[in-house]
Amino acid sequence: MSEQWIYLNGQYVKKEDAKISVYDHGFLYGDGIFEGIRIYDGNIFRCREHLDRLYDSAKSIMLSIPLSLTQMEDALRETIRRNGLRDGYIRLIVSRGPGNLGLDPLRCPEAYVVIIVEQLAIYPEEAYRDGLRSVSVSPRRNLPDALNPKIKSLNYLNNILVKIQANLAGVGEAIMLNSQGYVAEGSSDNIFIIKRGVVFTPPCYIGALEGITRGAIIDLCAKLGIPLREEPFTLHDVYTADEVFFTGTAAEVIAVREVDGRIIGEGRAGPLTSRLLDEFRKIVTVEGVKVYQ
Ligand code: PMP
Repeated sequence: MSEQWIYLNGQYVKKEDAKISVYDHGFLYGDGIFEGIRIYDGNIFRCREHLDRLYDSAKSIMLSIPLSLTQMEDALRETIRRNGLRDGYIRLIVSRGPGNLGLDPLRCPEAYVVIIVEQLAIYPEEAYRDGLRSVSVSPRRNLPDALNPKIKSLNYLNNILVKIQANLAGVGEAIMLNSQGYVAEGSSDNIFIIKRGVVFTPPCYIGALEGITRGAIIDLCAKLGIPLREEPFTLHDVYTADEVFFTGTAAEVIAVREVDGRIIGEGRAGPLTSRLLDEFRKIVTVEGVKVYQ
């Protein structure tokens, strides 16, 4: 990528010129929403699902997006085209826009819409075979009645506190519990466990984002006849699982080999996790919206 172009409120500007006000309430208060989306060989994977989640988040926080869903999809495709990318990562941000120093969103007449596309540095391929180490951490997932984790909000401090603990423990991803001690999700990934051939993932009401990759894995299990249950589970269930993996747009389907010092299964990616990763990589270039036609 020689020159990087950013979509900024209806204009395409060079990265160096992409500037916004310090009075933006996304900057001042984390008041806004975002999406992380992948492009695989010119295909925006599950584009409509990402946009539906964005518009649902916007509705929930009463943020009016100044583009229709179709206009947004066109803006995504055009930004990718202008950057000449076939594979990469899209960060789509809608913030409340500039207001005054008070927190009242009514003082912010115009939302900001920003689209950044970049190449993505993901985990090295060995990590998918060897699995990550993980730990459970002390910060609990935001309560759904305080800040619902289903809203993909710009306020990521809950997740950042978790990431800090993961860094201190020297692991790639951490496991967050909800306030009742049930497993919720990772700092930026959903979690799955496998026990005796059955795949389990926490229901989103536990306190988890309705991940697009999570949804893809649920669909794949149904297609392949692999039994899957969305039900609450605890760390004990994680420690004693045959396989554990995280899912996310950036991480895809990544195995976990150790949790809080307990070795999971054989201590590397298990057979079902590897199969689901293979199957996932088959659909990513197919399901979604084509950029170049
Ligand atoms: N949970 C959280 C908190 C996230 O930020 C993300 C996104 N990285 C996920 C789960 C995974 O969601 P998706 O598969 O849509 O990327």
